[in-house]
Amino acid sequence: MAPFVFAALAVLGAGTTEIAGRHLRLGFSGDSGGIVSIQAGGHEFVEAAAERPLLWRLTLRDRAGREAAVDNAAAPRPSITVRRGSLVLRWEAIPLPEGAGTLAVRVQCELGAKDETARLRLWVRNGSGRFGLWTIQFPVVSPVGRKGGIDVAVPRGNWGEPLREAAEPVSGTYPSHNLPMQFLLVQKGQDGLCLAAHDPGARPKEFSLAPGGEFRILNWADDMGVPGNGWDAPYAAAIGAYEGGWMAGCKHYRAWVLRNAPWTRRGPLHLRRDVAESIRRTSAWIIGAGSRQEAVPVVKRFAEAIGAPVGTHWYNWHQIPFDTDYPSYFPPKPGFADGVRELREAGVLVMPYINARLWDVANREFPAARPHACKDERGAPLIEEYGSGAKLAVMCPATPFWQQRVGDIVRRLVGEEGVGAVYLDQIASAPPRHCFDPGHGHPLGSGRWWVDGYRKMLEPIKRWCVTGGRRAALTTENNAEPYMDTVDAFLIWTPRDAHEIPMVTAVYSGRALYFASNRALAGGDEAFCLLQARDFVWGTQLGWEGGEIVQPAHAAKLEFQGRLARVRARSLDWLAYGELLAVLDPGPEIPAIAGRWNTWRGDRPVTLPAVHAALWRAPDGRLAIVAANADTRSHRFRVTLDSARLGEGPLPRAVAVEVPARDGVVVAVSPARR
Ligand SMILES: [Zn+2]
Repeated sequence: MAPFVFAALAVLGAGTTEIAGRHLRLGFSGDSGGIVSIQAGGHEFVEAAAERPLLWRLTLRDRAGREAAVDNAAAPRPSITVRRGSLVLRWEAIPLPEGAGTLAVRVQCELGAKDETARLRLWVRNGSGRFGLWTIQFPVVSPVGRKGGIDVAVPRGNWGEPLREAAEPVSGTYPSHNLPMQFLLVQKGQDGLCLAAHDPGARPKEFSLAPGGEFRILNWADDMGVPGNGWDAPYAAAIGAYEGGWMAGCKHYRAWVLRNAPWTRRGPLHLRRDVAESIRRTSAWIIGAGSRQEAVPVVKRFAEAIGAPVGTHWYNWHQIPFDTDYPSYFPPKPGFADGVRELREAGVLVMPYINARLWDVANREFPAARPHACKDERGAPLIEEYGSGAKLAVMCPATPFWQQRVGDIVRRLVGEEGVGAVYLDQIASAPPRHCFDPGHGHPLGSGRWWVDGYRKMLEPIKRWCVTGGRRAALTTENNAEPYMDTVDAFLIWTPRDAHEIPMVTAVYSGRALYFASNRALAGGDEAFCLLQARDFVWGTQLGWEGGEIVQPAHAAKLEFQGRLARVRARSLDWLAYGELLAVLDPGPEIPAIAGRWNTWRGDRPVTLPAVHAALWRAPDGRLAIVAANADTRSHRFRVTLDSARLGEGPLPRAVAVEVPARDGVVVAVSPARR
């Protein structure tokens, strides 16, 4: 980053007020209060801002459902006051339509001379007896970069999605599978912006970015549409500058979550006593399905072939059909507890499936559950349908009734059936729904109550699972971050893409566990091994195929998965407890391997280098290169390590690594002699 020095604060001509920190400078329009400039390092990210640029946009509704929209560009000119490290914009008496009252809006931007991150907060005072705030878009910045002229990284999919020379708009709803972490990265060369929400409450929000167009974070109000409701700066939107690639951007966000987020408050994984050994040590998974007779022999064969601690995710252990008649999971199929015991004795972690979100409206107990389901504005339960065709009501996580019911099911599974973990479907996958039931005691519509509700549900269950001599784990679907203090491992099962980057473990390695490397079973041995190799070095527990993986046709695949699982089991200091520092490039001599990976659009061709490698740091500081080779020939490569860039040192400049055919290695990197 260019070592230029900003003035701490400068009021320039043309009505622009600037505030500057370290490597970061923001300019605000004197006419509208909108952002006219964001300079990070040497790059200007806002080129040609509008004459009256936007900063915030509000929608309001009245009881009849009529909508009003207000934004700063159309509002009267704000007053601007600046103090060292802080800029405040005030809009007074913004008129609402039809004489329905006025709004007062205040924005504060904090950016100290030594700060690399600007923190922006918004307050709305609503003086209307008729309109209630519905959505709050803040901050709005436009235009960000040029269409096709910036790189964007979105922390979603299983790992992370890089969009080089991005031209298409992206958006995602947090917290869910389509935006598990609350930030986006925007880059031009080595100059990066981390656009984040520093929200410990993990409120539902939608990030949108159109390259060359608008960036915004859309929030839904607490008590949506209730006349007179306001917005009281529940968190800071953060615009941070960093130098380097997407990894540096992820570390920028990691620094915030490790210091401030309630979901990281239990500390690093290797020190956590509330995370069962069995889930930490699991190195590969297989799906189990159906009765004891159907599931147990297959899982045992898998466990023998892997030769390292394995887990089984047991579906359809219950008599009710899948996604039907929830939550009447009991009684299980005959012999389930015996099957669980048999597998446990074989050293397998048994994890049955339940859904932690849905109640079938045709279930005989639904009349008692109905008051505790999420409701729309007219009081009707929110219904979702999946493959089974059953009408499934979304239960409100803020209700003690549903919190208790999920707890009861987990306690029965662990206490009576003897399982070592319970999978709670959908929690970290599905976006929060809006619930307008006034009987639930939470703000109407949206708010932090969704994530807080799940925390309230899961905290006592988790405590029970690891006390009184019990050591059971909880897991869920996909990887939304705010659940990781109560959920031990996250199922990253959705399709893989050749272009992915491991943003998830860049941020949360050593703090949470991720499992699954499925999605290539039908694509041939090469494609399967390629996917295992890459996912292994990025830090997931492997597997999560169905029982067919133990068939002779897949012997080579199972053999490779077993080798990598055994390496993982010996290398937990890095791959489970350590931090992913860098993805390494084994160089151009490594041949490419082609095959087909499963995607949402069916199997698609993929071509990637045969060898994948990454640099990890154990909690005690030991560095290691983790590498895996999907090829049937051994390969040797040299990687150069940049001590300054990695913040580690002194390191040897170059390290030679040899990876045998279809195998994985962990190579210690010793400090260089001075
Ligand atoms: Zn509710």
